[in-house]
Amino acid sequence: MKEYSVFVAGEWVDTSVGSNIITDPATGKEVSRIPALTSEHVDAAVKAAERAMEESRWASDGRLRADVLSEWADRIAKNVDELAKQLTLENGKLLGEAKFEICNQVNVIRYNAGLARTVCGRSQSFGPDVMGVVVREPMGVVAVISPWNWPISLMVRDMAPALAAGNALLCKPASQTAGVSIDVLKLLAECEGLPSGILSMLTGSGSKVGHSMVEHPGIDMIAFTGDGSTGKQITRDAADTVKKIALELGGKSPFVICSDANLEKAIPELVSAVFTTTCGQICTAPSRLLVESSLKQEVCERLKDAIANIRIGNGMDPQSQMGAISTRSQYEKVLSYIEMGKKEATLVAGGEPVEGVDLSVSNFVAPSIFSDVDRHSPLVQEEIFGPILTVQTFDTDDEAIELANDTPFGLASAVFTENLHRAWYLSRRIKAGTVWVNTYNRFYAETEVGGYKESGVGRMAGHDGLMEFTQTKHINFDSVLPTGSAGRTSG
Ligand code: NAP
Repeated sequence: MKEYSVFVAGEWVDTSVGSNIITDPATGKEVSRIPALTSEHVDAAVKAAERAMEESRWASDGRLRADVLSEWADRIAKNVDELAKQLTLENGKLLGEAKFEICNQVNVIRYNAGLARTVCGRSQSFGPDVMGVVVREPMGVVAVISPWNWPISLMVRDMAPALAAGNALLCKPASQTAGVSIDVLKLLAECEGLPSGILSMLTGSGSKVGHSMVEHPGIDMIAFTGDGSTGKQITRDAADTVKKIALELGGKSPFVICSDANLEKAIPELVSAVFTTTCGQICTAPSRLLVESSLKQEVCERLKDAIANIRIGNGMDPQSQMGAISTRSQYEKVLSYIEMGKKEATLVAGGEPVEGVDLSVSNFVAPSIFSDVDRHSPLVQEEIFGPILTVQTFDTDDEAIELANDTPFGLASAVFTENLHRAWYLSRRIKAGTVWVNTYNRFYAETEVGGYKESGVGRMAGHDGLMEFTQTKHINFDSVLPTGSAGRTSG
């Protein structure tokens, strides 16, 4: 078992303060021991961050930030294999996916390192001698609270722009994947140019450590990615200290297949995105298939064939095509929805326990597909976060739009059609932060992501993602002499 320490307020803290154990979801074996911090550590981290923002050049020197971010990216690039193994051990995902996740962060951090050098405001003239200068300043002390499903990707997605914008960071990784998160944060903490106090790692339970971060008056902004109910709770808990909150929450994304779609492309994209990628434990998972009625039977047959031979197993095994569900509680939740589907809907495929493994300690679940589901059923309306797909049909584009928008979520979506006009009509009317046309789950450092409706508030990634971590200040220069009057403005 790997024993971890965390860097808090410029000092390493070990597990003598208390600890949490992480178990491998594929085997049930204990893999990591993580320090369980307290609200006193949160307080010390906030004070160190405030000091660092006052005393260091961090907030004012974009080149320094670019250098530190670039060094962090280089260090991650050199440690991909080791980091990926730890990620698979703690999360249960396939080693190939884990490597992809780690490698991608190098790209995201480098993009933000570039942006750090051009965090620009604007200036505007209000007369010959009056000038308004709107500067972009960092928010101050920012808390990044992240989930376990894509733990490095989602932590870095918030951290890199927050650092590029000149903030101090307190990072609270998900408990299930805290070890690999600390490994990645350590590579940043060791960068020479990072001023002491700008980064603290706060491990421990969300209800204690996370909660005290949310309530702390010294924290200026919370960037949270996770479950909708936690996001709502955080919004309530942060109200008394009126801090900025960015929320990246759950989804129930529709995957629309029109009668003219290229199924050779659509079916593999769907199977990968809702089943094999992280066992469907991804916020953008297209868990609702909306298929034009004329194609329903063919699509269901093709899906059944596609999932029949998926090899489910330990993420460390290169033969595995689908790994384990990350936590025991998530595994049990997924099984309960499968039981609900068997009672309420028509089982198209799956629904059986995985054979040849000890399911008392291993969290393996096979893909399941249900059709003839009531549109108000929890199977259609609630985020399950597992390898379960529901199938609904439509006969007109407007019916597809109505069904697509018929949940409280609006994170992502897909439209598969060969008809450009249909693609445009549907894309503009689906209420979601991302619409993929004839593709799925393509993310770029340069493009924003975020949710409509209950899927979130604010945008991450891209240029706007960095701007979320800034606030504007208008500095008004008035050089008009007392005797003059031209150009003086008010209101
Ligand atoms: P979660 O239970 O909400 O936990 C997320 C983070 O919040 C963890 O670090 C957790 O700590 C912490 N936390 C829990 N209660 C807290 C509280 N009261 N105050 C402050 N922090 C608290 O979510 P999850 O189960 O890890 O992740 C799955 C969810 O994330 C799904 O709903 C998924 O859709 C969503 N997600 C959204 C996106 C997106 O970009 N929109 C991306 C990925 C995932 P502990 O781990 O210690 O409990």
